[in-house]
Amino acid sequence: RNQFDIASVRRDFPILNERVNGHPLIWLDNAATTQKPQAVIDRLKYFYEHENSNIHRAAHELAARATDAYEDARTKVAHFLNAGSSKEIVFVRGATEAINLIAQAWGRRHIQQGDEIIISWIEHHANIVPWQMLAAEKGAKLRVIPVDDDGQILLDEYEKLLNPRTRIVSFTQVSNALGTVTPAHQMVQMAHRYGARVLVDGAQAVSHMPIDVQSLDCDFYVFSGHKVFAPTGIGVVYGKPDALEEMPPWQGGGNMIADVTFEKTVYQAPPSRFEAGTGNIADAVGLGAAIDYLDHIGMANIARYEHELLVYATRGLLTIPGLRLIGTAKEKAGVLSFVLEGFKTEEVGAALNREGIAVRSGHHCAQPSLRRMGVETSVRPSLALYNSFEDIDALIAALHRLKNLGA
Ligand code: PMP
Repeated sequence: RNQFDIASVRRDFPILNERVNGHPLIWLDNAATTQKPQAVIDRLKYFYEHENSNIHRAAHELAARATDAYEDARTKVAHFLNAGSSKEIVFVRGATEAINLIAQAWGRRHIQQGDEIIISWIEHHANIVPWQMLAAEKGAKLRVIPVDDDGQILLDEYEKLLNPRTRIVSFTQVSNALGTVTPAHQMVQMAHRYGARVLVDGAQAVSHMPIDVQSLDCDFYVFSGHKVFAPTGIGVVYGKPDALEEMPPWQGGGNMIADVTFEKTVYQAPPSRFEAGTGNIADAVGLGAAIDYLDHIGMANIARYEHELLVYATRGLLTIPGLRLIGTAKEKAGVLSFVLEGFKTEEVGAALNREGIAVRSGHHCAQPSLRRMGVETSVRPSLALYNSFEDIDALIAALHRLKNLGA
């Protein structure tokens, strides 16, 4: 497909045929999790019907099939992120586990008392709490890059926070609460001038835009499979070879060792060193299938289509009297957040649900982001490649109806 064919894309997602409260389902909760194309569902079924085994290649035929499928998925992830090699890809449970792995394993070795860790004001709790825990344990300082009233990173303030004690900078590429796209490339370069490592949280970016970790030049990049049309329970850490090399293991167990005696254990090289125990083999394979699906459509095509959808939705929302957009950065992706005068956010969510429209109302695990914008909660419709202009029309019409009823 060269051109983006929305009707054809929608046919690929069986759940879009569901009816909810007498209406066709309109799934606008993509920032929480995405729906799965038939290709991913079929791939899981095929795995369990024809390939299922633990991954000890040499053991027998099915072990070889399962190992190949798992390692093929790793290669697909490497291509998806434009990593240098599949050895730079570690499978974990999701973005949360990915960040905890880096904070615990890399952080415990490289963060000392008085060192500084920088995050931004618009992080998901998953990119705040692990660093707080590490800072408390080590006597390190957690510093926070402020944002402006639109929810955009203040680069001048960031520059002031950077200093030779900065060991790592960890920030999101796209805010899950405000939709802000951060100037990630520039932020990485700035951190590197001070010798700091950089982690980019790609949880909200991967489904919306092409990712190139080599051009970003980040040291670590993490994401969750379930936000990119793959199953839950599988996620990824990309690490530059030298960054992974300087990271000790986190969990100990099978698969991550080269040799064990009671005196001493020799660890495997990355990525095996970080994959103790039996991993989520089938869902990794499912992630590979999701990436194939996206490759077929093309991330650049998806980004172009979604941008039009976001602009259209923003314009539509602003026609609703008393609606205030939360997060008005110039560059946004995927997420629209708002409050509606006269209504609690959960009332708006419930009203939309009655019409079959799924959005999230709440703090979206990003309380500092919303508080910076002067609210505790928001209503958050969020987009994916299968959302149509008609979905947006239905959302806007439902909000107009609610406003008219309530007023
Ligand atoms: N970071 C961001 C920006 C997110 O949006 C999310 C999920 N909402 C996470 C991290 C955590 O992802 P998970 O819950 O899949 O581990």
